[in-house]
Amino acid sequence: MTTTKPSDNRFTHLLATRPWLLADGATGSNLFDMGLMSGDAPELWNTEHPDRIAKLHQSFVDAGADIILTNSFGGTQYRLKLHKAQDRVAELNTAAAAIARSVADASGRTVVVAGSIGPTGEIMEPIGPLTKELAQEAFAEQARALAAGGADVLWIETMSSREEVEAAVAGAGSVGLPVVCTLSFDTNGRSMMGISPSDFSEIEKTLSPRLAACGSNCGVGASEMVACIHNLSVAMGPDVVLVAKGNCGIPQYVDGSIVYNGTPELMSIYAKMALDSGARIIGGCCGTSPKHLRAMKDALDAHTKGRAPELEEVVSALGEISTGARAQWGGEQSRAGGAAAGANLNRGRGRRSGGAAAAGDTDKSAS
Ligand SMILES: [Zn+2]
Repeated sequence: MTTTKPSDNRFTHLLATRPWLLADGATGSNLFDMGLMSGDAPELWNTEHPDRIAKLHQSFVDAGADIILTNSFGGTQYRLKLHKAQDRVAELNTAAAAIARSVADASGRTVVVAGSIGPTGEIMEPIGPLTKELAQEAFAEQARALAAGGADVLWIETMSSREEVEAAVAGAGSVGLPVVCTLSFDTNGRSMMGISPSDFSEIEKTLSPRLAACGSNCGVGASEMVACIHNLSVAMGPDVVLVAKGNCGIPQYVDGSIVYNGTPELMSIYAKMALDSGARIIGGCCGTSPKHLRAMKDALDAHTKGRAPELEEVVSALGEISTGARAQWGGEQSRAGGAAAGANLNRGRGRRSGGAAAAGDTDKSAS
């Protein structure tokens, strides 16, 4: 286990010296383009096709990424169990980090390796069967392996429940590296389990360790992501480092497969609006190709941070915003006041099945 002084850590160093950092784009949807089949575990490619994983990382580094996420989103024992690989947590996660580390170190500049940690797919107590202790140990097991492979920071993403955030942060935090955590606010301005940006702000204050950065990833499109960043920024204040890692537009079924409709131009506008709204780490999630990321980098390089956009400016530039996020933007945080959406447990259960992902599930299966 490596315990790194903050001053020595690539992530905290870059954050301290740069106004914004560019995170990478999608892992899952780009691996599908490289031959991954729906239902396959992307993590198995860390040992079966390390060259392809390195190639994807390299393409994002070439596009200007300062932070690359390891191919380990489903790397807890619970997710790997769906592929009978629950005994390979250490091997697959260490390999994931080592592949990214080698690409980062050969880049000739400082590139941060972020060890991706996704949900277990299990519902936690008190609603579901997974105890906090078991979840925390599973996250710690994955985090230790990512650190051993050379991760600079542990990057928890696509979370939706308070219990799992707490378990993941405690587990990842046991390793001694900085911890980042992002939720997917994909259900009318809230996470699938009902957490709003305002709720997340309160939860973050109680976490141990505190987060090096936090924010939002995946979700339902660029306009909703910018609204979410606005709402997080208002709730958390200027001292919190916010992450925006939004999907490349809206998923659509085309000829039986899922295609994201965002253009490089749309993602460029999203990147600038996310920065102006308070994000300091900006990247893309599902559907974001290296070409999109390069456009985002060029747009951010040419842009000076300005005033935060108004809600209607976001809508006219990027598209509609949910009624829940709109109500939150207006200062209304209660469900009764319209900033609503209940927990959607059916979707949570659907994710446990793994395998061939259903439509709304694909973006979750591989980040
Ligand atoms: Zn995504």
